[in-house]
Amino acid sequence: MAALPDIRQLSKEELQKVVAELGEPSFRAKQIYEWIWQKGATSFDCMTNISKSLREKLNQHFSFYAVKEEIVQKSKDGTIKLGMKLHDGRVIEGVMIPDADRATACVSSQVGCSLSCSFCATGLLKRERNLTAAEIYDQILLLHRHAMNFNQGRGLTNIVYMGMGEPLLNYDNVMRSIEKITGPEGLNFSPKRITVSTSGIARGIIRMADEGYRGNLALSLHAATNEKRSKIMDINRSNNLEMLMQALDYFYQKTGNEITFEYILLDGFNDSLEDAEKLIKLCQSFPVFVNVIEFNSVEGIPFKKTSAEKRTAFVDYLRQNRVRVKIRRSRGKDIDAACGQLANKH
Ligand code: SAH
Ligand code: SF4
Repeated sequence: MAALPDIRQLSKEELQKVVAELGEPSFRAKQIYEWIWQKGATSFDCMTNISKSLREKLNQHFSFYAVKEEIVQKSKDGTIKLGMKLHDGRVIEGVMIPDADRATACVSSQVGCSLSCSFCATGLLKRERNLTAAEIYDQILLLHRHAMNFNQGRGLTNIVYMGMGEPLLNYDNVMRSIEKITGPEGLNFSPKRITVSTSGIARGIIRMADEGYRGNLALSLHAATNEKRSKIMDINRSNNLEMLMQALDYFYQKTGNEITFEYILLDGFNDSLEDAEKLIKLCQSFPVFVNVIEFNSVEGIPFKKTSAEKRTAFVDYLRQNRVRVKIRRSRGKDIDAACGQLANKH
């Protein structure tokens, strides 16, 4: 038997049409839509203000592919990693990072990743498929529940698309998920508290600017010359630094948003003062904030993290040259929940 279509793939207009075809009054479409995108329903049976007969009809015609929490791992620093099961049995990971004043969800956009950056655990997996907008959305609802336990019911304050996968290679679903998270008919979450991180897909960055994306953008830069960047990120061969800088400049011109550069310090590879000098040059075209990231070790990947002394020298040099920079502390390392460690190991 062919699988039934996923109800959450329907637009509001398509849902209205379905409800009319089922011979139901139009306000039912609004109720169903609210259950899906506002009230966090995980099945038709949750929709308690909808008649049993309509729920049965929906069940006959559609699937409700809710993501299920399977494994909860808790780090000693409070970070929580969830292993979540998709309807087809595949597993993805998402992380909730609690802080004094914030709770950040780090969500996946794909199962695996088609790129294979040489420092990243997810890059060791092959890309199996894109996540739907609803599957991305579900991760947020599940992580939100864990966040609420930490901050007396306030829940998530920030969302970063920095889990498994390359968000801009799943552009439509990622943007649709953001529309639902930020929309008045969804969670009404502020776009200023959302960050999409990309390994650098120039046409995706331009599209974001053209289509009125209002969140933050982070580029995984990690090396400031094409020669070095192509060695660790294959994607740089087709989307080189010139293309990326042009796309980012365009993004800044259109949105007025500063750009974050993410820069993992890799021992002996990109952590000298000459490397810093090249990075400084790249920070001069438009407003940039640099996140210097400690390398998180991954089994089978030979890179090592830079020593604290070298890291300080690198960061100080950037600061002396008026680059705004922050060192991003790794969280959840003991449960492989830190950046670049998500690999469905359990
Ligand atoms: N594909 C997107 C988003 C997911 S990766 C991207 O590449 O930007 C999220 C962040 O973790 C990226 O900045 C990525 O470069 C970084 N990362 C990957 N492997 C890492 C590792 N081993 N240690 C620290 N950061 C890592
Ligand atoms: Fe994919 Fe990002 Fe990891 Fe590169 S760093 S392999 S793009 S998830």
